[in-house]
Amino acid sequence: MAKNEPGITLIRGARIADAGLRRAEAGDVLIENGVIRAVGTDLTAPAHATIVDAAGMLIHPGLINGHTHGHGGLARGQGDKWTLELLLAAAPWIGGNRALADKKLATQIVAAEMVLKGCTAAYDLYSELPLPTVEGMDAVAEAYAGIGMRAVIAPMVADRTVYEAIPGLHDALPESLQKDVARLGLPAWQQTLSAMETVLKGWSWASHDIRYAIAPTIPHHCSDDFLCGCAKMAKTHGLAVHSHVGESKVQAITGIKRYGKTLLAHMDAMGLVGPRFTAAHAVWLDDDDMRLAADRGASLVHNPGSNMRLGNGMFPLRRALDLGVNVGLGTDGANCSDNQNMYEAMRYASMLSKVQTPDPRGWASVEECYRAATAGSARALGFEDIGAIAPGMKADIVFLSLRHVNWIPHNGTVNQIVHAEDGNAVRHVMIGGRFVVRDGELLTLDLGKLAEEAEAARERLEALNAGYLDLYNRLEPIVASFCPGMAAGPYQVRRYLCDAVG
Ligand SMILES: [Zn+2]
Repeated sequence: MAKNEPGITLIRGARIADAGLRRAEAGDVLIENGVIRAVGTDLTAPAHATIVDAAGMLIHPGLINGHTHGHGGLARGQGDKWTLELLLAAAPWIGGNRALADKKLATQIVAAEMVLKGCTAAYDLYSELPLPTVEGMDAVAEAYAGIGMRAVIAPMVADRTVYEAIPGLHDALPESLQKDVARLGLPAWQQTLSAMETVLKGWSWASHDIRYAIAPTIPHHCSDDFLCGCAKMAKTHGLAVHSHVGESKVQAITGIKRYGKTLLAHMDAMGLVGPRFTAAHAVWLDDDDMRLAADRGASLVHNPGSNMRLGNGMFPLRRALDLGVNVGLGTDGANCSDNQNMYEAMRYASMLSKVQTPDPRGWASVEECYRAATAGSARALGFEDIGAIAPGMKADIVFLSLRHVNWIPHNGTVNQIVHAEDGNAVRHVMIGGRFVVRDGELLTLDLGKLAEEAEAARERLEALNAGYLDLYNRLEPIVASFCPGMAAGPYQVRRYLCDAVG
């Protein structure tokens, strides 16, 4: 078997997923120093090559999670009937008082789940409060490097709390709660930008394919000065930018109230929208926004699980693809979606596009959903050499057992990857030619130890954050009535073929 060192590996006799074929055909893949050199039939094994017998297996490129949050790893299963705004109100409770070790631990949980479920790279928007630090972001990078995944890590930052960001929300709180939320205030944007610069200067993970980006988290949670500062920093250092844009209807309405234009148009005015810009969610973007994203070469990342879980609505996948935007796919954080299963994300993307209209011409195909989870997300991450099994691409390869019940019978390969696979048929996962999962076992992390550490952290953080839980319980009834009240008003999403009023 191929051990964990670069060298020459020949995968023999696998069925190789190909979106252009209904049913995958058998072939070989030759890998040299972590890069795919050849794909074909009956390839000659070079001397010293390690042969991987993949008969009875289907291989596909590692799935790429275009939007997640490492800090969410310790917070899954916390809430049920949560809107996005309730989740934001719960953030101090479910994410507060984290020690350095907790930051790494949370990310390890997320990364372990992703890789065990066939995902080999992720775009991680990581929240470290009050400010991003070199040690904190290094801990996140260490988690990905230790597991063996590729990643883009972006400190998730803001200079306004949700109470300051949503017009009228602060005023809806009684005076005592206004005082309590004032204590959650964020540092001045200059301080945060300077902390982000410091992390950038100390970044030492590029050789692991772990890159640094920046994430002004939500446009209206950032002052214009802050957004301009982020745009300048991105331009100066050639960094990618990622933000949650038009995720909830409350946000879309806030954009018009604050700026007199859509949130994406505002970010564009701040100089942020370009080929290295990713907007997560984009549920409430209109046709002009989609055209703008397409013209600028930006990416949208669809998170169907999170959008359903938080009641945010349905991303118009067909419309986005028709307007020529690059679309990636993500799970969003474990604090709101709650698993990190990219097979489920593909299945949800397909289903959610189909539930929007009885006319199949308005639906996305399984091939399009599969492409979003591979090449589409790769482009959002800014990696040109992942997301496909082809010569010159990195050898990030998932092996599915065709003897698993998900594949009995094997009729249509990509159709079944999207609609039938759930991660249970994953047998091996290779990243850069190195096995990270073998026979269903994660080789790079002791899950038993991880579970013990996570349980201890959970107990400690629960005690430390009891005061924040109490605060959340007092805020909950007000946020839970104010925001849906705001969202009850009409908001027109301009679509030129069929005007939709949500
Ligand atoms: Zn998110």
